[in-house]
Amino acid sequence: MTKRAINFSAGPAILPLSVLEEARRDLVDYQGTGMSVMEMSHRSPAYDEIHLGAVATLRRLLQAEDEHDILFLQGGASLQFSMVPMNLMFQARRADYVDTGAWSAKAIAEAGKVGEVRIAGSSREESYTRIPRQNELDLDPSADYIHITTNNTIYGTEWDYIPETGSVPLVADVSSDIMSKPIDMTRFGLIYAGAQKNLGPAGVSLVVIRKDVQDRAPKTIGSMLRYRTHAEKGSLYNTPACWAIYIVGLVARWVEGQGGLDSMQRANEEKAGFIYDILDQEAFYRGTARRESRSLMNIPFRLPTEELERRFVAEASAEGMTNLKGHRSVGGIRASIYNAMPRSGVETLVAFMQEFERKHG
Ligand SMILES: *Cc1c(COP(=O)(O)O)cnc(C)c1O
Repeated sequence: MTKRAINFSAGPAILPLSVLEEARRDLVDYQGTGMSVMEMSHRSPAYDEIHLGAVATLRRLLQAEDEHDILFLQGGASLQFSMVPMNLMFQARRADYVDTGAWSAKAIAEAGKVGEVRIAGSSREESYTRIPRQNELDLDPSADYIHITTNNTIYGTEWDYIPETGSVPLVADVSSDIMSKPIDMTRFGLIYAGAQKNLGPAGVSLVVIRKDVQDRAPKTIGSMLRYRTHAEKGSLYNTPACWAIYIVGLVARWVEGQGGLDSMQRANEEKAGFIYDILDQEAFYRGTARRESRSLMNIPFRLPTEELERRFVAEASAEGMTNLKGHRSVGGIRASIYNAMPRSGVETLVAFMQEFERKHG
C-alpha cells in the first residue's frame, strides 16, 4: 500500500487521495483518447469537456451568476497583485487596501507601482493577530476598488465578515480559503486565488470577475494582462495550464461530492475546533491569532521554547506528520488544514500534541 504523509503544508498542499487516484487511473490513457491530459490539444473536444466542466462545477459551488466570469490564468496569485491594479485602478487612480499580513503587503507594494494606495485599515501594529472590524475601516467612497486578503495564510487570521463597501468594487485575495466555506459572490467585484492551497496544483490561478469590472481596463495594457482578453476567449486565448485545470475540476467535483461548501465549512469548523480546543487551554500551547479572527485553514501556535518547537516538528515528522514548521518570518508551528486534510489527520495531530505535552509540559 502507498504510504501517504499527513501533510500540513501551507501550500502546495495536500490533495484529496481519491482525486490523485482518479488522475493516476486516467494518466496514460484519458478515457479512451490514447493520451494523457498533458498531451492533448487544448482545442480538442476531450479537453473542452474538461475545461468547461471545471468552470461549470466551480460556478455551481460558488453560486456565481452570469454577471461573473470564471477565469483560469497563470502567474499565481502574485501576478494578480499586479493585474488587479493594472486593470482596475484607472478612474480615480486610487485604491484602498486593508493590510492584514505579508500577502496584503505584497499586494499593496505592487499596486503602489500603478497608482495611489491608501491603507484603509491595518493590524500591523498588533503583529497581524487580528482582522480590523468594519468600524475601524476608513474607506474612500471614490476609490477604484477596495482590496482585502480573506485568509492570512502566515498569521492564521481570517475575515469573519465581508466589509460593506457601498458602490466601490470589493476585490479579494482568497488564495487560502476559497472553497472552504460558502461565499456570497454578489458582494465581490473580483476574487482571485492561486490553486495550490485549496483548489489543486500550482500553475493555475482562479479569477472570478464581474463583467462591469472588466470594462474598466485601459486598452493599452498587454493582452495577456487584460482580464477582458481571457474572459472573451473562455480562458483559451493562449494555451492554458491544462493539467492543473483538469485537477482543479476533479477537486471541485470532490467538494461537490462531499456535499458542497456548506458541508466543507462544517467539516472545517470541526477539524479546526479540535486544535483550537487545545490552544484554548493556554497551558502548554499558545495560539497566536486573536480568537475572533482566527482561521479555519491555517493554525499557527507557539510552544514554551524554540527548542521544544524544534523537537515538536522533528518528532511529529517521525510519526508521518510533515510541514508543521511555521513560516520562516514568524517561527513557531503552523498546522494548515485545508479541505483535503482528513479529519483523521487532525485527530492524529491532536493526539500527538497531547502526548507531547504530557512528556514535556
Ligand atoms: C500563497 C498565497 C499567495 C501567493 O500565491 P502564488 O500563487 O504563489 O503567487 C498570495 N496570497 C495568499 C493569501 C497566499 O496564501
